[in-house]
Amino acid sequence: MIIKKVKAKVISNSRGEDTIKIQVKSDLGKGEASAPSGASKGKHEAKDFAFNVDECVDKTNKIEWKEMEINSFDDLSLIEDKIKDLGANPVIAMEYAVLKSFGKQLWKTLDPKVRELPRPLGNVIGGGVHIRGGNHCEFQEFLLYPYNSKTIDDAVKSNELAHNFVKKHIKNMKLDSAMTDEGAWALELSIEEILDLLKKVSNEVFDETGINLKIGIDIAANSFWDGENYVYRDKKLSSLNQVEYISTLIENYDLHYVEDPFMEEDFIGFAELTAKYGEKCMITGDDLTVTNLERLERAITEKSINSMIVKPNQNGSLLGFRDVIDLAKKNKINLVISHRSGETMDDSLADLGVGFKIPIIKCGIHGSERKVKLDRLRKISKEIKFDL
Ligand code: PEP
Ligand code: MG
Repeated sequence: MIIKKVKAKVISNSRGEDTIKIQVKSDLGKGEASAPSGASKGKHEAKDFAFNVDECVDKTNKIEWKEMEINSFDDLSLIEDKIKDLGANPVIAMEYAVLKSFGKQLWKTLDPKVRELPRPLGNVIGGGVHIRGGNHCEFQEFLLYPYNSKTIDDAVKSNELAHNFVKKHIKNMKLDSAMTDEGAWALELSIEEILDLLKKVSNEVFDETGINLKIGIDIAANSFWDGENYVYRDKKLSSLNQVEYISTLIENYDLHYVEDPFMEEDFIGFAELTAKYGEKCMITGDDLTVTNLERLERAITEKSINSMIVKPNQNGSLLGFRDVIDLAKKNKINLVISHRSGETMDDSLADLGVGFKIPIIKCGIHGSERKVKLDRLRKISKEIKFDL
C-alpha cells in the first residue's frame, strides 16, 4: 500500500477533551481513526500527547508521509519512526488509519482467518475518578459479564437489560443518580449496597433471559491510595487489610473479575490475591501492567496476575501492543481489551479484539462512543457468520 495523503485534525472526546483524528488515503483505500484518553491513568503508561493537541495535529500534518510504502503490520515501524515523538495518541490514531486504508476491514488485515469473538464486559455502576462531585463510591466500575451467552447480540442485550433494571431500582428506591464518564450509573450507595443491587439485577436478567451475568469490579485502587492506606468514605485500610477486604468481597459476591485491587506498585498484594483466588477469579492488572512489556514480565515473575487489560494507547505503539499480547498468551494470562473513559466514535477496538483473538472486550454499555464498538462486533459477527 502506498500512502497518498494524510490529514489530521482536532476533535473532542466523550469527556469534551481535545484529541486527534487522522485520515489516510492510500492507493488501496481510505482510513479514518482517532484515539481516546483515560482519567485514571497509570503512572507508567505512555503519555497520550507530547505537546498540546493542536501542536501535535500541526506536526502530524507537516510530516512527509506521501509515497511511503506500508506492506505489512511490521512495516508500522516506519510510521512509528516518523510520529513517535508526538506521543501515544498520534501514533495509535495514525496506525489505525493506516491499517484501515488497506482497502479491507481492519480485523482482516490483522488476521483474516479468525473465528472467535471477544465477549463484552459491561460497566453498569461506577464511581472513583470517573465521576466528579457527590459522595460516590470509591470503586471505579461495577461490571457484568455475560458468561454463558451464545451470541454477541444476547451478551449486549443482557448487559443493556441490566443497565435498565438498575434504572428501575433507582426510581423505586428514590435514589439520587448521575452518570459516570463511561455511561454507568453513579450512586451514593456503599460498595456492599451496590453489589447487593447488582446481585439482584443479575438474578432478574437471568429470570428473563437465562443469561448468567457474573459480577466484576474495577477497583482502580490508585485513585484512593494516599501513600499509606486505601482511604474509603467510612474506613482506612492498610495493604494487608485491603487483601482481607477484597477477599471478603470475592467470597460474598462470587466475584468473577477483579481489576486493580491494589495501587500500581503493589505486585505483592496482587500476587497474594492471585494465589488465593486465581482459580475462580480473573485478578486483572490495568494500572499495574499498563500494556507494557517490562511491567508484564515483572507481573509474570512475581505471579501477580492471571489476567490483564490491554489498551493500545497505554503502550503507545501497535507493535508494542502486539508484543504484550504475545507474551501474555504465552504465559496463559487472560486478556481484556479495553476502551478509555474519554472515548471517541472510533470502532477500531472491536477489530483489534477480533484480529488479535482477545477473549474479552470492556467497552461500556451506554452512550454512542461505547455502543459503536459493540455494533461493530455485531456487524463482524453477522458478516462472518461466527459468534461467541
Ligand atoms: C480503566 O481504568 O479501566 C479505564 C477504562 O479508565 P481510564 O480510561 O480512565 O484509564
Ligand atoms: Mg482499570
